[in-house]
Amino acid sequence: MRDQFYVIGQPIGHSMSPTMHNEWFRENQIHGHYAAKEVGISDLESIVTEFRSTVNGFNVTAPLKVEVMKYLDDIDPLAKEIGAVNTVINKDGRLYGKNTDGIGYCRGLSLVLKSPIEQESILIIGAGGAARAILCSLLHLGVKHITITNRTTEKALELKNGLLLKDQEVKVISITEAEQQLGAYSLVIQTTSVGMKPNEAEKPMSLYNLSPDTVVSDLIYSPYKTAFLKEAEQKNAKIQNGLPMFIYQGALAFQEWTGIFPNTIDAYKLLEEKLGGTKC
Ligand code: NAP
Repeated sequence: MRDQFYVIGQPIGHSMSPTMHNEWFRENQIHGHYAAKEVGISDLESIVTEFRSTVNGFNVTAPLKVEVMKYLDDIDPLAKEIGAVNTVINKDGRLYGKNTDGIGYCRGLSLVLKSPIEQESILIIGAGGAARAILCSLLHLGVKHITITNRTTEKALELKNGLLLKDQEVKVISITEAEQQLGAYSLVIQTTSVGMKPNEAEKPMSLYNLSPDTVVSDLIYSPYKTAFLKEAEQKNAKIQNGLPMFIYQGALAFQEWTGIFPNTIDAYKLLEEKLGGTKC
């Protein structure tokens, strides 16, 4: 019998996870199959119960990443700290939850950084679930200077005040302050949904003070290059979209399930072609 894996969420039809994971199963000659399943909050408990006896593992995406934690047997400490699970491993009927989003993001980022990540001075735009996963992971990697800015400052303060690691400096500033002080950051991480299709012209803040030495990263990959990344590119900054994060969070999940870290370079080419983009 082949091993069965899923990604669950709503909406899920657009997910590229099946293409990526099935290619990795093929490349590694593993008799596995990965599919997308549309699951809303109201169906979650019954699906997780069913999965205990029918699947080897599954990924969880919006809007289920927090809710799914209720139905799992064990949760990894980093996922607990992040407060969300995106990867579940079935160990003989016991379900173990992890979060590979933040560490996956950091692995992807290392492709464009010149110095070790802990030396970066980082501005995070946004204070939602993705920002939280990345912030917790950056703190665990030893990054010392992180500033958060968000449309709703109270949410950024909530994020900062809820952190378990308190040794490192995390500051909260307004969007206007971030625009003025932009030159002080070596890395800007755009984690909001601003600029996604169909609102492709929107940007979360202006980059008028951006230095060409700053790396600008946007979690969005559809559109392939957001208006925010286009502005950064015009200012000669190095840019990266959300595709490396997507691939590395998936690769880390694949490794949890199979013990094999898969080929991320070919996955990049495959998905880049599927998205109709060119490297960024
Ligand atoms: P979320 O928890 O809903 O957080 C959304 C964030 O966007 C909040 O900071 C929110 O600000 C901000 N925001 C939304 N609309 C805005 C607007 N019109 N103006 C200014 N700010 C706005 O979402 P999430 O799960 O963190 O996901 C955020 C983005 O990351 C999405 O685009 C998602 O597709 C992407 N993502 C990518 C990957 C990947 O693999 N590349 C993985 C996960 C997520 P307020 O607090 O003020 O509402």
